[in-house]
Amino acid sequence: MSNDNKNKAAESAAPASNFLRNIIDADLASGKYQREGLPSVITRFPPEPNGYLHIGHAKSICLNFGLARDYEGRCHLRFDDTNPEKEDQEYVDTIIDSVQWLGFDWNRADGSHLYYASDYFDTFYAIAEYLIQAGHAYVDSQSAEDMAANRGDFSRPGVNSPFRDRPASESLDLFRRMKAGEFQGGEHIVRAKIDMASPNMNMRDPAIYRIRHAHHHRTGDKWCIYPMYDFAHPLEDAIEKITHSVCTLEFQDHRPFYDWVILRAAEGGFFQQPVPQQYEFARLNLTYVVTSKRKLRQLVEQNIVSGWDDPRMPTIVGFRRRGYTPEAIQLFCERIGVSKADGWIDYSTIEGALRDDLDPKAPRATAVLRPLKLIIDNFPENEQIACSAPVHPHHPERGLREFTIGKELWIEAEDFMEEPVKGYFRLFPGNKVRLRYGYVVECTGFDKDADGNITAVHCEYFPDSKSGTPGSANYKVKGNIHWVNAADAVQAEVRLYDRLFTDATPDAGGKDFMTLLNPNSLEVIQAYVEPGMAQVEPDTRLQFERHGYFVTDRKDSQVGKPVFNRITTLKDSFGK
Ligand code: ATP
Ligand code: MG
Repeated sequence: MSNDNKNKAAESAAPASNFLRNIIDADLASGKYQREGLPSVITRFPPEPNGYLHIGHAKSICLNFGLARDYEGRCHLRFDDTNPEKEDQEYVDTIIDSVQWLGFDWNRADGSHLYYASDYFDTFYAIAEYLIQAGHAYVDSQSAEDMAANRGDFSRPGVNSPFRDRPASESLDLFRRMKAGEFQGGEHIVRAKIDMASPNMNMRDPAIYRIRHAHHHRTGDKWCIYPMYDFAHPLEDAIEKITHSVCTLEFQDHRPFYDWVILRAAEGGFFQQPVPQQYEFARLNLTYVVTSKRKLRQLVEQNIVSGWDDPRMPTIVGFRRRGYTPEAIQLFCERIGVSKADGWIDYSTIEGALRDDLDPKAPRATAVLRPLKLIIDNFPENEQIACSAPVHPHHPERGLREFTIGKELWIEAEDFMEEPVKGYFRLFPGNKVRLRYGYVVECTGFDKDADGNITAVHCEYFPDSKSGTPGSANYKVKGNIHWVNAADAVQAEVRLYDRLFTDATPDAGGKDFMTLLNPNSLEVIQAYVEPGMAQVEPDTRLQFERHGYFVTDRKDSQVGKPVFNRITTLKDSFGK
C-alpha cells in the first residue's frame, strides 16, 4: 500500500471526534493522568444488576469500551450492586454475556477488570466513619416525613435537622450500632453535612447510608446497612482509579456531590490526586422503543412479549435473538456519536447499520412466504431439472446453491394478478416472466375455488430459455420472480416482526406506552424455502432474495426443522 493510501485508510478507520475525545486529548497533552504503572485512560461501564441490558446501555458500552480501546487504556465492567433488594445473580450473568457478545473484553495483559461495588463495602463504611469523625456527616434520627418536609423544594430552602449538630461521637456510636443491627430500617440514616439551603437539592445534606435488613446476592447477611448510590458511585470510581467517568445527562446535577465525596475522602487520605472526573452525555432515545428497565419488565411480566429475549424487545438479548450482529450494533453506536444534546434517533438508523453490515456477508437463499401453486403444464411429468444460483452475487468464490425445478412450483401469491394493474410486469394471463435461475414461462390461466379464491396458476415454459444457457438471451421479459420447487422445498415457520408500538415516542410527554402497543407486531406464517435450508444451523443469518434479512431462531430452530425470524426488510419500510 502506498503511503497515501495508508493515510487514507487510517483516516476512514479513525473514530469521529467528539467532546469526550477532545477532553481526553487535552488530558493526555497535559499529562494529567500520568501515573506509575497505570494507563492514562481508564473508563468503566457500571450497570446495576437489576435487569437486562438494553440498546441504550449498548451506547454506553460502545462509548466506554471504545474510548479505552482507541486510547490504549482499559475499561472496567463494574457491577454497581449496592441495592440488595432488586439485584440478582441472573442479571449479573446476562450482563456479562451481553457485553462479551457485543465484542468487548475487560481482560487485559494487566489482569481482569471485572469488579463488584459490593467488594468495597468495608471501604465505603470506613470512609463514612471518617466523614462522621471529621464533622462532614452525621446520623439523622428524624422521621422520613420530617426529613422530606425539612428538605424544602426548589423555591424554599431546607431546614437543618435538629440532629445535625449532635456530637460526632454520638453519631459515630449510632452508626456503629446501625451496622450491628440494633435498629429497624428508617430509624436512623447517615447524611453528609453540606448545605440545607443549597440551590442544588442534591447538596442538601444527602443521605449516604441507610438501614436495610436485606439479603445481598453476594455479601449474604453480612450487612444491614447499605450505601446510597450517590455516595458509593464516586467512591467506586476513585477506588478503581477511573480517569474519565462518563454518564448520562441526568447526573449533571449530581456532579457537585460526586466531587464533594471524592474530595473529602481524599482529604482523609483515602485517595490521591488526580481523582476521577465525571462527564455527561445525552442518553440514547430510539423511536418506537422504550429503554427503561422498569417499562421493559412490565412488557415481560404482563406477557406482551415472550420474555426478555423476545425478538421485539430492545434488550441486547432481544436484538441478538432477532438476528442483529454485534458489528451492526457497534456501527450504529459509532454513527449516532455522542453529544450533550438530547434527541431522538430514528429507528431506521439501526436498521441501516444492520443492512450495511449484513449485505456483504449474508448468503442468499429463496423463500416463498405466501405460497401459491404454479403449474407448468408442458413440463415433463415427474422430472426434476438441476438449477443453481450464487451463494452471494458479489462473491463468486463462495460457490453455488443447488436446487431443482419441476412441474409444480410455489410462487408468491402477490406475483400473480388475474387482472394486472398498470405497470405490473409479473404473472397475469398472456404475460411472460423469468423464473429466476430457471426458465421463462408464459401464463396460460388459473384455477379458482367456489369462493373465488385463486388456487393455482397455469403456465407453459420454453425449454431453451434456461438461465445460464445461450438460449436464454433470446427472451426479453420485464418480470423476474422467485419460486421453489414443490418437490424439494422445505416447509418452515417464519416469524415476521414489526415495531412493538404504534407511536414513535411511546413513553414521551406522559403517554402511557402500554396503550400504544402494535397488535400486529408479530405474524407467524408457514413458508416454503429452498432445499438447502434444511441443513441450516440455529443462529445463522441470511438474505431471502426480495424479502429481507432473516436468522434461524437461536432457541427454536433445528437442523431439519428451521424456524426463521425476519430481522429487517431489504428497504426501509419502517413507519410507512
Ligand atoms: P434504566 O434507565 O433502563 O433503568 P439505568 O440507567 O438505571 O437504566 P444502569 O444499570 O444504572 O441502568 O446503567 C448503566 C449505565 O448505562 C449507566 O452509566 C447509564 O448512564 C447508562 N445508560 C442507561 N440507559 C442509557 C441510555 N438510554 N443511553 C445511554 N446510556 C444509558
Ligand atoms: Mg440508573
